[in-house]
Amino acid sequence: MKKLALALALSVPAMAFAAKIEEELFIMGHNPALVKEFSGHADLTIDHLDSEGFEVYGPKGLAQMLEERNIPFYDLKDVRKSIDFADYPRFEQVKAKLVDLANKYPQIARLSVIGKSSQGRDLMVMKISDNVGVDEVEPEFKYISSMHGDEITGRELTLQLIEEMLSKYGKDQTITDLINNSELFVMPSMNPDGSELHQRANAQGQDLNRNFPEAVRNDPNSSAGRQPETKAIMDMHVSRNFVLSANFHGGSVVANYPWDAKYDRHPFDGLLKDLSKEYANLNPEMRSSREFAGGITNGADWYVLYGGMQDWSYIWYNDLQITIELSDSKWPSYSEIPGFYKSNRDSMIRFMELAHQGAGIKLSDRNATGSVEVKNAQGQSLGTYGFTHGEFYKILAPGSYTFNVKSSKGSKSVDVIVEADKIAANGNYTSI
Ligand SMILES: [Zn+2]
Repeated sequence: MKKLALALALSVPAMAFAAKIEEELFIMGHNPALVKEFSGHADLTIDHLDSEGFEVYGPKGLAQMLEERNIPFYDLKDVRKSIDFADYPRFEQVKAKLVDLANKYPQIARLSVIGKSSQGRDLMVMKISDNVGVDEVEPEFKYISSMHGDEITGRELTLQLIEEMLSKYGKDQTITDLINNSELFVMPSMNPDGSELHQRANAQGQDLNRNFPEAVRNDPNSSAGRQPETKAIMDMHVSRNFVLSANFHGGSVVANYPWDAKYDRHPFDGLLKDLSKEYANLNPEMRSSREFAGGITNGADWYVLYGGMQDWSYIWYNDLQITIELSDSKWPSYSEIPGFYKSNRDSMIRFMELAHQGAGIKLSDRNATGSVEVKNAQGQSLGTYGFTHGEFYKILAPGSYTFNVKSSKGSKSVDVIVEADKIAANGNYTSI
């Protein structure tokens, strides 16, 4: 208690690594001052703020502190007691299912283990693409689910998505075009220990969506000292060129776009809103949300958080990422999963297609590194971005752009056109 009270006096998140989550509470009622006080606090995690209240996670002493301040709350662990976990697959069944699918569709599916969880479980990513064993120059897309272990809906939905895509290859035109012209990566379970333990944090009590390097805090982009699950994602990014991603959560129904850590608008704010709307518009419950206009929200406008994955992926890797909250109940009855799949399936497919709303360049030297300045049709600079592996790709609003490319091979200017609703056979890359 004493330690927490002292920590609460800090208003700036000075610590890169948060305290262990030991208490999980729901604070009742509308309390903006308290949200502001707790928001971004290094030892506290706020989540799922709505008109009824918000969740707060933190070290021992949190409940006592709230009691002393007469703040009404209840314990989320009590809510969990009424949940029926038994119908859900366990980790080993999820793993077996992924292995089976990879074996059944070896031409278009490849399962990779990108690391081990704290308790030694495999962290698995399914790559779906034609020529799956080859690293082709195609837009790279990724879905990650359940970094919060108790937010389970997305794990089931991504498993089902993988199965549907693999089984409909060559039969469904949209799915076939996606698989032929993109490299799709799907990770149903980023925090398998948390899911086995039915808890938000990983087995070491850490919130993985507060564990990434944070630009606002000037953290270096280093995985040193981070959780093994975080490190696995960070390492995967180094070797890939992800351009568009989403990560699935539960506890609300909304598509949330960056930034999470600051109120400034993202340089591609309009584009991010449009991308988020594309997801929300095809999901009846999200689109008609009463909490969020149009089913979307800016991250910081909802509540500020530090060390999240979506800000990190864009800042360091030019990978636009949004956070999708799939269900009000984090762990709904298993019988509700088919309904959630039905209401998200078209959105999930549509969002993958948006990886093609962009343009790229590819160099003959597959090891070339360099930078690209992107200019719009009016000649305004939209930023300069580094690239590696001889390729660069950027999601943009439809329109014409100029890419000023600088590499070890010299400089070159390339005019590109970005079109909506087009999966180009060459991925819309210009060879230089
Ligand atoms: Zn979450």
